[in-house]
Amino acid sequence: MNTNTNYAYIKGISKNKEFGDVLSVDFSPLKICSYDCVYCRLGRTTDKTIQRSSFYPLNDVFSEIQNWINQNSSPDYVLLTGSGEPTLYHELGPLVELINTNFPELKTVVYSNGSLLHCQEVRRELSTFDLIIINLNSDNEDIFQRICRPQPDIKLAQVIDGLRKLRKEYTGQLWIDIVLVNNVNTGEDTLESLMKIISDIKPERCMINQHSKKEKGPNEKQSIIPERLREKWSKLSFDVIYNI
Ligand code: SF4
Repeated sequence: MNTNTNYAYIKGISKNKEFGDVLSVDFSPLKICSYDCVYCRLGRTTDKTIQRSSFYPLNDVFSEIQNWINQNSSPDYVLLTGSGEPTLYHELGPLVELINTNFPELKTVVYSNGSLLHCQEVRRELSTFDLIIINLNSDNEDIFQRICRPQPDIKLAQVIDGLRKLRKEYTGQLWIDIVLVNNVNTGEDTLESLMKIISDIKPERCMINQHSKKEKGPNEKQSIIPERLREKWSKLSFDVIYNI
């Protein structure tokens, strides 16, 4: 398999137990994002914006995907991502359309922070993906501000409203990803209230991750999610996956 590092947009292929071979494609400069999350692995956001831009030419990005597939075997999934929020790339919709038309067997996945879901155009573009994963860490504005440090025009109510609209319009796989930050969104009431909102949205799956997991000492056997909530959430109509 060609792992040529001359590619500008192909970030590599990874094996995933569930998805098979996943090709990651990155099309935004480091680091443009609508958020500046405290847990971001890419470092601090240097350009915090909600302005969509054509960071790189659509044909350049698509040609790389095409070349990669021609030189290697076709992956199972292509993950369209960015060094920041992927929906800020103005060519996201045309790019996924080109992939769907030219490689109909290839599945597409996107991970978004949901900040532009209030835009109908963005929801329409996302709806052409096979799998959409949206991050949502709280239903409380203050907690949202503390964790995600969004661009000032972004309000959590708008994000949640966009997510509800997306669910109504999109019939594919919608997953919600929660990142827990110790002592910020880990209170029992906070978690319960967030899961209530998520239950109303009805995703196919909810994943729970934890920022900076600490090794548990012998006297810290208890999980960050109390047994009472796990028991309650086991009866939900969708799967709750704990990566904590
Ligand atoms: S939304 Fe994603 S890329 Fe943007 S700051 Fe948060 S974790 Fe980083």
